[in-house]
Amino acid sequence: MERILVSSCLLGRPVRYDGAAKPVADALFDRWRAEGRLVAVCPEIAGGLPVPRPPAELTGAPTRTLLPLTVLPASSDASATNRGAGDRARVVTASGEDVTDEFVRGALVALDTARRADARIAILKESSPSCGSHRVYDGTFTGTSVPGEGVTAALLSSAGIRVFSEDELPEAAAYLAELES
Ligand code: SF4
Repeated sequence: MERILVSSCLLGRPVRYDGAAKPVADALFDRWRAEGRLVAVCPEIAGGLPVPRPPAELTGAPTRTLLPLTVLPASSDASATNRGAGDRARVVTASGEDVTDEFVRGALVALDTARRADARIAILKESSPSCGSHRVYDGTFTGTSVPGEGVTAALLSSAGIRVFSEDELPEAAAYLAELES
């Protein structure tokens, strides 16, 4: 049975920066949960950050510039990214605290969790600086989102795991069926 890595907050766990959850109410999700497919991870907690915590946003270069290449397949497109020391993304809070290391550490735990579960699919919370797969906030703390990906979503995707958002459950179901056919 294919397992699916899932953002903990989508499973109703109160792990977001503000202590809230973002539970998904969807029949597909409920079925996967009942089947025991869902493997929860909160990268920010796994990276050592507390609840609650200051909101953080990505800034600077594209997210993939900070991925640890040693854990990725040689074929990963992250290896083609500009890796200049001064040209890397950072994750910062509104007060300027740099939490990049915690975010990268959490992404590595998420990848390890996926690999241990043999998960080839992840469903992650959109717009999070860890879990966003299509959009992230732009680093200005003005509620402005832009196309981009969070640190964990980028790492999982670079490692060959298909990442879907909570808005793409039918697409995830189609890919799941493809893997199991
Ligand atoms: Fe944790 Fe990701 Fe949910 Fe943020 S979006 S609370 S990092 S699981």
